[in-house]
Amino acid sequence: MNSRAAAAINFLFEGNRRFAGSLLIHPHQDRQRRTKCLQGQQPLAALLGCADSRVPPEVLFDCGIGDLFVVRTAGTVIDNAVIASLEYAVDHLHVPLIMVLGHTACGAVTAALEGATPPGALGRLLDGIRNMCGSAGESATEGVDAVVRRYTVHIADSLRTAGTMVRAAVERDGCAVVPACYSLTEGTVELLEHHAAMP
Ligand SMILES: [Zn+2]
Repeated sequence: MNSRAAAAINFLFEGNRRFAGSLLIHPHQDRQRRTKCLQGQQPLAALLGCADSRVPPEVLFDCGIGDLFVVRTAGTVIDNAVIASLEYAVDHLHVPLIMVLGHTACGAVTAALEGATPPGALGRLLDGIRNMCGSAGESATEGVDAVVRRYTVHIADSLRTAGTMVRAAVERDGCAVVPACYSLTEGTVELLEHHAAMP
């Protein structure tokens, strides 16, 4: 992990500590910041998160406009549009860090583990989660939160190794792809892998 990635992680965790401790300062949300960002965006990190309304990244990391390049899907599922968005973040915006943020009690993962088969694209999305989580029997004994953690690590691995510009950024520039998990009850974010230079 390079120093820019480590600085981005520190920035995020300082914000999360404020959030979890109810010490929010709501930085970068005023007119001055909007005006500054008219010249362009230079986000510190990209984040792939769940669409769940209880997991809004700018709130739980206490940051604001221009800080995070965010992609959110139900269950943090990856498709071509997600990968393309993250490719844009690393290749054009040169973010040094992609955080993949799962969360406890994820409804999409729960529905997938319970074998739900809704019609339409939602059914295919749940099939995709099941494919990544392994067999339903094996997952059912783990509990949802343990599966979320394993699944989030797997998504981060997929992003690192897929034949994309993300992989190139990892290999060429030392871009870090880090899995993490947000606790709905505690308000805290936990890294799921340890990297050198991490706090
Ligand atoms: Zn979720």
